[in-house]
Amino acid sequence: MKKISVPKQIRKIAAIRILERFLLLAVLLLVAYVFSDYVINNIYEEANFGNYSFTLFFIYIIPFWLSKIPKKLFDRDWYGEILSFETNNHEFKFFDGKDKREKFSLHALIKEPNGKLHTHRITNEKLFKPGDKVIHVYGMDYITPIRTPSNPGKIVCVCCGGDNETELKHCRYCACTLDVKLVDEKKG
Ligand SMILES: [Zn+2]
Repeated sequence: MKKISVPKQIRKIAAIRILERFLLLAVLLLVAYVFSDYVINNIYEEANFGNYSFTLFFIYIIPFWLSKIPKKLFDRDWYGEILSFETNNHEFKFFDGKDKREKFSLHALIKEPNGKLHTHRITNEKLFKPGDKVIHVYGMDYITPIRTPSNPGKIVCVCCGGDNETELKHCRYCACTLDVKLVDEKKG
């Protein structure tokens, strides 16, 4: 079995990012509280259980869900192999229907050794290919491909997503350590 080795520097950055998400959620909930209080006191003729729970549902559950914090909290370290890529196209049409914008986002479908599947956003498609083994670190937004002599190429910084030559020890964009790797799990 292989184990993911993550340097302390990256654990600290991940802890700060998780804390930032909590603070963002706290601010969202505070705004939601003030707004829901306003709605309940000014829009409904009387505050009863039905309209109160309806308001709470739309004002609390939606920001919580949109913040993606539930997903990020129950996250963990994992590694797996890229099976394929999926492109999502979002089209934005303006009201006159003439002008439109398109936005593409690329996701990789990744399979862990235990069979569990993940979809993870890829910001630079040139750095990944199907068959690459990739590591995801708890709390971080970027996955990194594992480089070996049989699979050479650039490595990706888990902190900023920047591309780096394999001989570098620290990211050339953000100075984060690049030493995230798979090691053999010690027995006993
Ligand atoms: Zn970086």
